[in-house]
Amino acid sequence: MAEDASSIDSTIPTHTKAWYYSQHGRPADVLKFDPNWPLPQLKDDQVLIKVIAVSLNPVDYKRIHGEFKNVDSYLPVVPGFDVAGIVVKVGGGVRKFKVGDEVYGDINEEGLSNLKILGTLSEYTVAEEKQLAHKPSNLSFIEAASIPLACETALEGFEHAQFSAGQSILVLGGAGGVGSYAIQLAKHVYKASKIAATASTGKLELLREIGVDFPIDYTKYNFEDLPEKYDLVYDAVGQTDRAFKAIKEDGKVVTIVPPAYPPPAIFFALSSKGSYLEKLRPYFESGEVKPILDAKTPLPFSQLIEAISYLETSRATGKVVIYPI
Ligand code: NDP
Repeated sequence: MAEDASSIDSTIPTHTKAWYYSQHGRPADVLKFDPNWPLPQLKDDQVLIKVIAVSLNPVDYKRIHGEFKNVDSYLPVVPGFDVAGIVVKVGGGVRKFKVGDEVYGDINEEGLSNLKILGTLSEYTVAEEKQLAHKPSNLSFIEAASIPLACETALEGFEHAQFSAGQSILVLGGAGGVGSYAIQLAKHVYKASKIAATASTGKLELLREIGVDFPIDYTKYNFEDLPEKYDLVYDAVGQTDRAFKAIKEDGKVVTIVPPAYPPPAIFFALSSKGSYLEKLRPYFESGEVKPILDAKTPLPFSQLIEAISYLETSRATGKVVIYPI
């Protein structure tokens, strides 16, 4: 990558370029660019990051639509959860990072509440050290930015389900941001005995490449009508009622798309933890778990509206990343 600690301006800024919205609506209608957004004072446990790359997540456009307005921060808001960048300043209590470190993470500790007003779609952003990890040196900033929210969600789902080696899994939405990481974690971290996943016809080959034994073309088959049943269905689409029919007698369904269903379904909203990224570091460094980037990626900061509108179609493959910022 061209960007490294020596190539960024060492002056600590007081303002930043940022995308923001001051009313809810479609991103294309409400997102505006501010060349001069004020940066907050750093708290003791926070770092200031020069943002290099950002990946987008459905929660970004759902938040802009106003889906969480009952629990969300006051407007105006700079959206964005995921970041990869370089630390340019550290708070007094920060122990894990120093100026010049290459870091990545999801800057919001909780998935839906206490969301930050200053997100990551900004030239500079602020995050608590516990949400961040050192960027694996074999990954580019673009690749690293694609990991945090989606991959931590995949991991947290497996933890909630107490998924273990030798169990079988069906991932609904295998070609998406969360699904493509769930498949790879099932294979390499959890040593699943069998991995099935759903996608449309053109994405079945990708599913095979990332470790799926049984790709299911949802345009031709209803997964719940097939004879094979699974220990776990990981639902990244919102098909929990159908997923119940695809589990073994004592199987579970993890779902990340509302509405929440009763057990054996488990619904959760993710928590961002740098420790999740540290736990997965060996799998990124070995190349076993790989970022899957959409073919349109990366798109520059100036094309955020095009990028987020594309993600809104729910047709992206893997992750959509904004770079350069
Ligand atoms: P993406 O936008 O990355 O998902 C896009 C993918 O979904 C496409 O590749 C598409 O494949 C696939 N897809 C769409 N419809 C279907 C279908 N009927 N069957 C199979 N695949 C389908 O989203 P993410 O993976 O990032 O997120 C998935 C969902 O999970 C979102 O609703 C998101 O808000 C939610 N989420 C919830 C979290 C939580 O904490 N509860 C955390 C993270 C995400 P194709 O083109 O082949 O249809």
